[in-house]
Amino acid sequence: MRRTTQNRITSRCFICGGDFSGSRFAALDAEGSRYEVLFCNRCGLGKTEPFLTEDELKRIYSSSYRREDSTRFPAFLERFISIVRDGRRRSVERYAQKGRILDIGCGRGDFLLKMLSYGWECFGLELDERVSRHNRPGMELKYGSLSNHRFPDAYFSAVTFWHVFEHLRDPEWALGECSRILKPGGLLVVAVPNMESLQSRLSGRGWFHLDPPFHLYHYSARNIKRLLEKSGFEVKAAKHFSFEYNPYGFIQSFYNRLGLSQNQLYDFLRSRSGGSAALVFTLATLPVVALLSVLLSVTEALFRAGGTVEVYARKKERR
Ligand SMILES: [Zn+2]
Repeated sequence: MRRTTQNRITSRCFICGGDFSGSRFAALDAEGSRYEVLFCNRCGLGKTEPFLTEDELKRIYSSSYRREDSTRFPAFLERFISIVRDGRRRSVERYAQKGRILDIGCGRGDFLLKMLSYGWECFGLELDERVSRHNRPGMELKYGSLSNHRFPDAYFSAVTFWHVFEHLRDPEWALGECSRILKPGGLLVVAVPNMESLQSRLSGRGWFHLDPPFHLYHYSARNIKRLLEKSGFEVKAAKHFSFEYNPYGFIQSFYNRLGLSQNQLYDFLRSRSGGSAALVFTLATLPVVALLSVLLSVTEALFRAGGTVEVYARKKERR
């Protein structure tokens, strides 16, 4: 599946026009195959190589991806996630006028349910045929991606990508489409892992949020802002602290770096399966590691180097 050197160099960065000529994390093993991350020599954008086709992605998503719908976390974590979702609602309402909202990669629709209860008209897209089960009055969830649905021009007050944008094969097209369906001044939210974060730098190839081959591109706070600006958006804010994502990024990356089986804790929390000496060690040390991870997450956010970044941008009034 490995591409030739020549092909790699002819692949241009869509953010800055540089070359994907650098390579990091050679020989990443995931999902039964081997990957590496190529880097743009100018803006640092990372690209997973081999870059899977849509059919290849569909196949591995259906077999193994950590789907939001399939299992739930334990109740105390679900409660925590619900509180965090309300933080998202407040952030969106700070920058957008109430109206229609589209959440791309909406999962079970938990975030939209929150928006619905605050009077938003909600739409969601998810690559899971069962998604329409969660529909209710005022909340329409559809199966498919942005390219499968034709929404009217200037239809939405807000469009959100919560940890979905890094999965897109054609991000430039997606931003153009968001610009078309957003009202002038409408809000776009893009939350992605930040390659230039402290936790990414410390964790290297063991970084939890690297997640090959599902993450096709690896952004940084800097280059995602640059991409949004060149796509007709005005960046209003970038949040570097996410209680839902950042401390956990440190925790899991720490255990991955120790050489324990990749993402074992995550799989345990989700399925409550497993049970090994390594898992016992992980659970015994977890309180201390978790506390340190929260402190490190606060620190990296203070230095504007958060493990994930949420960018809030408005569609420019005139292009
Ligand atoms: Zn670049």
